[in-house]
Amino acid sequence: MKLPWRIILLWTLPALVIGFFLWQGTFSPASGEMGGNAASTRMSYGRFLEYLDTGKVSSVDLYDNGQTAIVEAADPQLDGRMQKLRVELPDRSPELISKLREADVSFDAHPSGDDGAIWGLLGNLIFPILLIAGLFFLFRRSSGNSGGGGGPGQAMNFGKSKARFQMEAKTGVVFDDVAGIEEAKQDLQEVVTFLKQPERFTAVGARIPKGALLVGPPGTGKTLLAKAIAGEAGVPFFSISGSEFVEMFVGVGASRVRDLFKKAKENAPCLIFIDELDAVGRQRGAGIGGGNDEREQTLNQLLTEMDGFEGNTGIIIIAATNRPDVLDQALLRPGRFDRQIMVDSPDLKGRTSILNVHARNKKLAPEVSIEKIARRTPGFTGADLANLLNEAAILTARRRKDAISMPEINDAVDRVIAGMEGTPLVDSKSKRLIAYHEVGHAMIGTLLKDHDPVQKVTLIPRGQAQGLTWFTPGEEQSLVSRSQLKARITGALGGRAAEEEVFGDAEVTSGAGGDLQQLTAMARQMVTRFGMSDLGPMSLEEQGGGEVFLGGGLTRSEYSEEISSRIDSQVREIVEQCHDNARQIIRDHRAAVDRLVDLLIEKETIEGEEFRQIIAEYTDVPEKEQYVPQFS
Ligand code: ADP
Ligand code: MG
Ligand code: ZN
Repeated sequence: MKLPWRIILLWTLPALVIGFFLWQGTFSPASGEMGGNAASTRMSYGRFLEYLDTGKVSSVDLYDNGQTAIVEAADPQLDGRMQKLRVELPDRSPELISKLREADVSFDAHPSGDDGAIWGLLGNLIFPILLIAGLFFLFRRSSGNSGGGGGPGQAMNFGKSKARFQMEAKTGVVFDDVAGIEEAKQDLQEVVTFLKQPERFTAVGARIPKGALLVGPPGTGKTLLAKAIAGEAGVPFFSISGSEFVEMFVGVGASRVRDLFKKAKENAPCLIFIDELDAVGRQRGAGIGGGNDEREQTLNQLLTEMDGFEGNTGIIIIAATNRPDVLDQALLRPGRFDRQIMVDSPDLKGRTSILNVHARNKKLAPEVSIEKIARRTPGFTGADLANLLNEAAILTARRRKDAISMPEINDAVDRVIAGMEGTPLVDSKSKRLIAYHEVGHAMIGTLLKDHDPVQKVTLIPRGQAQGLTWFTPGEEQSLVSRSQLKARITGALGGRAAEEEVFGDAEVTSGAGGDLQQLTAMARQMVTRFGMSDLGPMSLEEQGGGEVFLGGGLTRSEYSEEISSRIDSQVREIVEQCHDNARQIIRDHRAAVDRLVDLLIEKETIEGEEFRQIIAEYTDVPEKEQYVPQFS
């Protein structure tokens, strides 16, 4: 019984409009009934004038602004009996009036029907009225409640804002569906018990915490985890997103919070999940251009509601954010979101178990190794991994295979990392330039000992990139050495360096823009955060509150103009050094570069192994630790 309202409305509108026109036709005074006289017999205007002249007309009634006349006249054909005749008058005939007066005929003018006027007015108004009513209903439906079971009966509930929250009686998610974040699961296991058997805690006088805050980057399974808690405890799951609270109209957010808690209390025990808490819970009065009234009101309401119930009402609030650093301190006080639980990107073991969860309902070929996939995907979140297996399944179906095999997985990994494949450029100068650019990256990546090894070089465009050099990623390293950082900067400069060496300074392209951005950031961090410059081991930029992955933003600490300009010159020095080195490497191995470019243009993709073999014909290739087994 949810849809029909809008459907009925959409059908009634046209029906009413059509009805309106039909009805206007019926009631139009121009057709037929005029003052109750059925004057169906017509008479020409000429005959009318003739009758008038010969004194046969006894009375005239004018209608329709003087365009129609009902004439009572003695008809000679009917032995002079009186008859009512209808005459269409020509536009504007002022002489008619004087004629009628001369002839001493009684005449009267009727303003297009007595009740016709009202009907006409209504007729003109009814369309706008219907339209407004229709829009009003549509608006109520779309902005109206989607939770809390308010049906059509509540559609006329003026003034009371409807919470836009979702309610799931049963989430159907259990802890087994969540993998790779074991610590978080353990911490939250207790919350399940709070919901299931609160008496166990209240009996010994323990205060049940009201809320927990899940902190972590997007896609790591925070929503999933919250659903699993509700699923395990068998309680309803109320959810709303912080960004939905913050509306254009002041007061709407606050009343949504109120509605949400009201509904939740009616359904206790239950779980309230607030996604994107930072959207509403930002530090008050700290916004750009002063505070945001609406958000502050919403936040205050949220705090009031959280204080307003005791721990044993059976409501647990779980919130999620990836910016705990910007949250208002009041939210983190005891009795509110006093428990913070990190939900981080999974490590190798975590990725393996997440892949196992998502492989449960997929058909994998026997040679597919979940562990190999996990090794190839450092940095992938749970959502990325789920997406990866799904992409692989789609590719498998498209290739009409029975089971997902390794090539599909590989293609899906590439797609998740770099976007959809495009069509390669036709052979042209710009294709050649891109080939040099990519071979430049790959050459430096191969020849510098501290650089990750090349996995493949390709000219098949993906996403924004026209060509790509793939490096075999190492397992997340928490420690990066100075020479590794320098190697990365040099490698990132390899593309531009090759363009310069081969085509000259004037021909370099904008294609290196992204590379430059990355390497500048790396060089700057070396100076200001890692103490890897002549400025010595000093931190010149302090980390702003949160974790690095949270994009917490680096805030400048106080330092002098002088230090600031020394930082700039140190950054420039690092970049220049690496740039010179990159150009030197390209220059020294120009023959190998030219050959690899020709091969790349011909084949469009060169695997890392082949790439290394060709370079080995010209020079020594340093041995590198291979983190990842090559497969294809
Ligand atoms: P978040 O809320 O942290 O942004 P979600 O919970 O919405 O992430 O995750 C999106 C999807 O990714 C989930 O529905 C699930 O399919 C998958 N996923 C993410 N993390 C995990 C995990 N730890 N275990 C299993 N699946 C996961
Ligand atoms: Mg989420
Ligand atoms: Zn590049």
